[in-house]
Amino acid sequence: MPTQVTLIPGDGIGPSIANATVRLLAAAGADIEWDTQVAGMAGVARAGDPIPEATLDSIKRTKLALKGPLETPVGEGFRSINVALRKTFDLYANVRPAYSIAPNGRYKDIDLVLVRENTEGLYVGIEHYIRVGNDPRAAAESIAIITREGSERIVRYAFEYAVKHNRKKVTLVHKANILKFSQGLFLDTGRMVARDYAGKIEFEERIVDAMAMNLVLHPEKFDVIVTTNLFGDILSDQISGLVGGLGLAPGANIGVGGAIFEAVHGTAPDIAGKGIANPGAVMLAACMLLDHIGDSDRGNRIRRAFENTVKEGKTVTRDLGGTASTDEFTDAIIAKL
Ligand code: NAD
Repeated sequence: MPTQVTLIPGDGIGPSIANATVRLLAAAGADIEWDTQVAGMAGVARAGDPIPEATLDSIKRTKLALKGPLETPVGEGFRSINVALRKTFDLYANVRPAYSIAPNGRYKDIDLVLVRENTEGLYVGIEHYIRVGNDPRAAAESIAIITREGSERIVRYAFEYAVKHNRKKVTLVHKANILKFSQGLFLDTGRMVARDYAGKIEFEERIVDAMAMNLVLHPEKFDVIVTTNLFGDILSDQISGLVGGLGLAPGANIGVGGAIFEAVHGTAPDIAGKGIANPGAVMLAACMLLDHIGDSDRGNRIRRAFENTVKEGKTVTRDLGGTASTDEFTDAIIAKL
């Protein structure tokens, strides 16, 4: 039986890089049946809604989605699409692997995975202004919510990921020296979870500012990194920069109600419709999807074909220093399979 997966091609460069990925997976023999749905501006155009019910119903049914980048329409009444998906499916773990692929990159030996808590922290959206005298916006307050339950499940997810993927170490990143309550609870809970893996997976702690510096000085020293929402947001973009930029950065949002795999980058309006976008990030996200459904052999075979094409450097897109179109790059990867 083929695995049913919801496919959301997305906006801007989304459809072309999603098509390229579907073509690559078919060439690799992946047994996937795609249920194509719309969201973002395509959702507004087709169904008057950036996240149409039919799209949500499809993900509820398949519990798996591959998503191209979406443009969140600006204006009253529109929800943030990513936040809505995260909430609807309780996608609490944002997983972003990064490893050195591009030749002539600044770093040669990076192979790390950042696991970001996706539902709590400063991004819960509890904010207000405080009036002082005549100034209604004299001050502003944003509240960070950290729970023991949320911390435990994300740190446990990071350790389980380490076990499953034969990784050696989990680094917990925090700011408990200043934010003693919220970050302190995250750190204490993390330490408690780490005890369950003592002797199997090494555990270390880093304060976020020192971590940012260490990632630039010695990124090869890190393996699995787990942190809270805001720090994860910032560090994950930093990490994608270390390995060659957005065109090579996949991500997954994994949770109770399903798993959504995507490129980290956006709709790239400046190059949309030109046929020159790098499909790599969505392709690598599809490899994470294959891992998730237990087809890692195929995922790794696609990764090797992709890496070899990039390393050879003959038929790659412009962001990787070449002149190939999206389709030519895809054909070259398929030829290497
Ligand atoms: P962007 O990631 O779309 O583009 C940043 C730069 O990177 C651009 O110069 C672009 O050409 C380049 N780039 C991005 N992906 C590329 C690829 N695959 N190949 C080659 N070059 C690539 O970021 P932005 O311009 O800030 O955002 C544009 C739109 O995307 C906005 O509407 C934003 O809301 C949306 N967005 C969506 C997501 C998502 O759905 N996950 C994420 C980020 C941004």
